[in-house]
Amino acid sequence: MKALRFVAENRAEVADLDIPAIAADEVLIAARSVGVCHSDIELLEGRYIIPFEYPIIPGHEWSGEVAKVGTDVDGFEVGDRVVGECVIGEDHFGFSISGAAAEFFVVKPAWLHKLPDEVSFTSGALVEPFSCGYYGLMRAGNVNASDVLVVLGAGPIGLGVVAGGAAMGATTIVVEPSESRREAALSLGAAHAVTPDEVEDLLHRESNGRGADVVVEATGRPEVMASALELAGHRARVVYIGIDVGRSAPAKLGLIQSKELDIRGAIGSPGVWPATLRFIAKSGLDLGRLVTREIAAADAVTALDEAQKPAENIKVHITFDATL
Ligand SMILES: [Zn+2]
Repeated sequence: MKALRFVAENRAEVADLDIPAIAADEVLIAARSVGVCHSDIELLEGRYIIPFEYPIIPGHEWSGEVAKVGTDVDGFEVGDRVVGECVIGEDHFGFSISGAAAEFFVVKPAWLHKLPDEVSFTSGALVEPFSCGYYGLMRAGNVNASDVLVVLGAGPIGLGVVAGGAAMGATTIVVEPSESRREAALSLGAAHAVTPDEVEDLLHRESNGRGADVVVEATGRPEVMASALELAGHRARVVYIGIDVGRSAPAKLGLIQSKELDIRGAIGSPGVWPATLRFIAKSGLDLGRLVTREIAAADAVTALDEAQKPAENIKVHITFDATL
C-alpha cells in the first residue's frame, strides 16, 4: 500500500508498505481524505511539541471507510463511513503514533465516530479542525442571533469558527489581512470580512457602539490577542483558540475588569465530536469550501509543499481510493 512517510527531518516520501495487520480489538480503515495541517509540517521539520520518532506516517484530519473489523469489535461493519479523534489518552494519532496518510491504517474503535450520510468524505476530514472551532464557540457559551461575533484570523480553525458562528445565527465579522481568506469567510457565512484596519469602524456600526458580544481569537499572535480585549463590548465573552508559546505583547488588561469580560481558553476539542458531527449534518454546512487543493496519494509529497503556500491554499487534502 502507498503511505506518506516522514523518514527524517525534512525528508518525506511516498513509501510502498505492507497493509498492517489488526488485533482482535482493532479496526482497519481505508483512508478517503486526509488533510494536511500546520502541525504536520512541524512534525516534518522536527519541531513538534511532544516527543516522537521517525519514521512516522502523519495524518490526523481524516475520513475513511472500515475495511476490516477485529473479532472482538462491536458496533462497526465493513463499509461504514467514519472519522476519528486524534488525542487518545497518552497517544497523539498521527504524531506520537503513525496516522492516517496511508491507504490503510489501524485504529481502536473507541476513537471512531460514524459519519452521517449527508456529510461527504471531504467534509469528514475537516471535522477535526472544525471541532476545535466548534469547541471554542461552546466555550463562549450560547452564541446566537443576538450576538455580534468577531473572529480574529481566517486560517482553517478561524474559518471553522466563522462557519459555526454564522450557522448559530450570530452576525459574524471576520478580521483577516489576506483577501482570499476574507472571501472564503464570506462564502462560509460571515456577514462582513475586513482587514485589521477596518474592524473598529465596522464593529461600531454593526453593534450600535456596544462592541463585540463574542470575540474568538484564532491567530495566536500576541498583539492580535491583546486587540481582542479592545474589540470586546461590556460583559463580552472572549475565547482564545490561537496557539502561542511564550511571546508577549502589551495589552490593556484593565479592560478585563472595566468591561467585566468573560475570558476563556480552548485547546483541541475534548468531548465535542458527537455534537460537532450532528451540527455539521443538521446545519448543512459545506466545509468542503475550505479545501483549495485535492492531491492523489501517489503525489502526497506535493501536498506538503502546497500546504505551505498560505496565499494560495487554505486546506490541502490528500485523497485515497484503495479497497482491500
Ligand atoms: Zn490539524
